[in-house]
Amino acid sequence: MSYLIKGSQPYGGDAADILIKDGRIAAIGDSLSSTGAEVVDAAGLIALSGLVDLHTHLREPGREDAETVETGSRAAALGGFTAVHAMANTDPVADTAGVVEQVWRLGQEAGLVDVVPVGAVTVGLAGERLAELGAMADSAARVRVFSDDGHCVSDPALMRRALEYVKALDGVVAQHAEEPRLTVGAQMHEGDRSARLGLAGWPAAAEEAIIARDVLLAGHVGARLHVCHVSTAGSVELLRWAKARGVQVTAEVTPHHLLLTDACAESYDPVFKVNPPLRTDDDVQALRLGLADGTIDAVATDHAPHAVEDKESEWAQARPGMLGLEQALSVVVEAMVETGLLDWQGVADRMSVRPAVIGRLEGHGRPLAPGEPANLLLFDPATRVTVDPAALASRSRNSPYAGRELPGRVIATFLRGVPTVLDGKAVR
Ligand SMILES: [Zn+2]
Repeated sequence: MSYLIKGSQPYGGDAADILIKDGRIAAIGDSLSSTGAEVVDAAGLIALSGLVDLHTHLREPGREDAETVETGSRAAALGGFTAVHAMANTDPVADTAGVVEQVWRLGQEAGLVDVVPVGAVTVGLAGERLAELGAMADSAARVRVFSDDGHCVSDPALMRRALEYVKALDGVVAQHAEEPRLTVGAQMHEGDRSARLGLAGWPAAAEEAIIARDVLLAGHVGARLHVCHVSTAGSVELLRWAKARGVQVTAEVTPHHLLLTDACAESYDPVFKVNPPLRTDDDVQALRLGLADGTIDAVATDHAPHAVEDKESEWAQARPGMLGLEQALSVVVEAMVETGLLDWQGVADRMSVRPAVIGRLEGHGRPLAPGEPANLLLFDPATRVTVDPAALASRSRNSPYAGRELPGRVIATFLRGVPTVLDGKAVR
């Protein structure tokens, strides 16, 4: 099957046609024609490389009531993603070749995005001994990103050994930076507001202390470190310092940390409870500037679906985490494009190119150019959509953007030349 995309604007530039054949971009230019090709009218739509998420929770195996590989894949495709990294905190934990291969196969069967399993760093995420990192790397799932996300690898000696192992695998340790001794019982960002609301605080220092330690360890070992969901201004400063010293560190920020603040907790609505917590206006500003100047490499969703009984309860009992895949691009447009901090090329760099490089993914994060795999999305920047959680493809409903109007909408997504989304709807 071939497709002729008429009149889209690659990276927001001049209108051009894109011809897709045999899974690849065959040509980009003016007034292209091709007999037999299905024509997609894309006038006014921005064309971008398919997005790559370094941080998605798909909940399968174990919590299929909250999300499955298939429903999460559908949400991802609707968000313009062509590849997502599936975090390891499933049940059982993805800490063996068997489990990562199972997740990888489920992704292949769903066929909506490339599901790339993340392997656990430690057995059972328990932080006591290293998992079978080499076996996961050698498996059919080709694991390159290792993370205990949800938990911090807090033992410095174990973290050092993990860095040494993944270096040999050309992999990366993705650290959930949270010194657990400083966040016992934590419910929200520690500051004036947490004191006033009577909720136990999660201090910025708990994140920054681990990042400071880990960039020193990564520099010492000469290994790659990736920092998950950076949330504080101090973390951005530490990353800037480490990069200037030549440490091989990369970092991600979530859409919600680019848009929302701890003021959301005033409502006591647990949909806004997340780990790390929503921070202050100053933190949001520092994160936006860090993403704009490249100190923060990537946007990653930390899409965290939760079943109603785990989320719609008292704030203190609710699980942390929020949906992210379907609104990620629109949130980035509001926080970064409409504020003039990033252009469309910059969006593609932070949401596609760099995450693919960090994850060592072949065939993703490639430029829109002849000969490249046809992984791309078409985005309508002119429309505005009010988010209705009931209309989302995710099996869960915990969207922090419910009722909020966001800019733009993904109209189509192509995975290796095959549409996964057309006319704003998933093809299956
Ligand atoms: Zn995390």
